[in-house]
Amino acid sequence: MSLDLPLLREHTPGCQGRIHLNNAGASLVPFPVQQTVLDYLALEQEIGGYEAEEQRAEEMDSVYSSLARLIGAAPQEIAVTQNATRAWDMIFYGLKLRSGDRIVTCRAEYASNYIAFLQRCRQTGAEIVVVDDQPDGTLCCESLARILDERVKLVAINHMPTNSGLIQPAAEIGRVAQEHGAFFLLDACQSVGQIPLDVAELGCDALTSTSRKYLRGPRGVGFLYLKEKHLSYFEPPMLDLHAATWTSSDQYKLREDARRFETYEIFTAGKLGLGAAAEYALEVGLEAGWQRIHRLAETARDSLSQLSGVKVRDPGALRSGIVTFTVEGRDPQEVKAQLRQAGINVWTSTVRSARMDMEARGLSEVVRASIHYYNLEEEVEALVSQVAGMAR
Ligand SMILES: *Cc1c(COP(=O)(O)O)cnc(C)c1O
Repeated sequence: MSLDLPLLREHTPGCQGRIHLNNAGASLVPFPVQQTVLDYLALEQEIGGYEAEEQRAEEMDSVYSSLARLIGAAPQEIAVTQNATRAWDMIFYGLKLRSGDRIVTCRAEYASNYIAFLQRCRQTGAEIVVVDDQPDGTLCCESLARILDERVKLVAINHMPTNSGLIQPAAEIGRVAQEHGAFFLLDACQSVGQIPLDVAELGCDALTSTSRKYLRGPRGVGFLYLKEKHLSYFEPPMLDLHAATWTSSDQYKLREDARRFETYEIFTAGKLGLGAAAEYALEVGLEAGWQRIHRLAETARDSLSQLSGVKVRDPGALRSGIVTFTVEGRDPQEVKAQLRQAGINVWTSTVRSARMDMEARGLSEVVRASIHYYNLEEEVEALVSQVAGMAR
């Protein structure tokens, strides 16, 4: 399995003019995906939005099978949403919680998820339990196993945090959760499109993700997976006339499939683009893509860590394409701005996106260079040499 790099870069016009290392923010959208979105918008302009949807109904439907194939699910287990956050919310806010119930999570949990935990704990009297990390920063599965009892209503973990190269041992977490009968919700925002994923292997009950990050789809769309066995009882926290049918004046009936988590209105062109992005990722090959991302990211870490005054800030044993670092005496924002001037897109991550993790490591902000398979060895070298110029 190998990648046709010249073709992949030809599909990615943005990489001609700059070095894009902000793939954890939003990846560059490849031509075939972009074309799907633009063609559909043109069709809407020409024949009307509802008429376009009707005409392309089959293609619209195949979005579910593409996403299902991407993560080893069945099409009826997939819903398309406006982003990953709302996908996650539809599961999280749909879980029944009472006083004394427990939500189990990791120290590196994403801010939006943690804020939602805090809100619901205030409303219900449920509690949050944060599992200890191992020395390498990954969640300790033995500690998790000790915590899991009948009070635990949810294990919610993000697979790859936004603010470091950490990869959580999701499959092992899934196995422990399953053994104890706990509901496991996996936030796979940064891992979908980056690494091969299979929901059966991960042992998750639900998984949520976004289109624009490593999957290389358009912005403004996301999706969720909910395991079929939960569909028979799991009520979304909100419904509309697409999620349910108003069957008589005082009755409604939920949709049978996971689309009960959707709303009628969605960015339809983006939905088709998301499906196209899933097909594109499958065609490129997730294993080959991941091998390259991993190699490039480790090269970047090796080279950056050799610069005096530069510290690589990625915990974990096996690390993702997200490379984070600090430069002594330089504000991460300043590093980002200077790199932009040199034609290199990076981003920064602040304590606000993952407070417990950043505080525990004494960090308020880091520079984040997130690498994709379409990046080149020379681009990584260019990053390193620019950072070398800033370090003392
Ligand atoms: C980006 C991100 C999210 C939120 O995704 P949206 O599509 O912006 O809603 C959630 N979790 C993690 C780990 C992320 O990196």
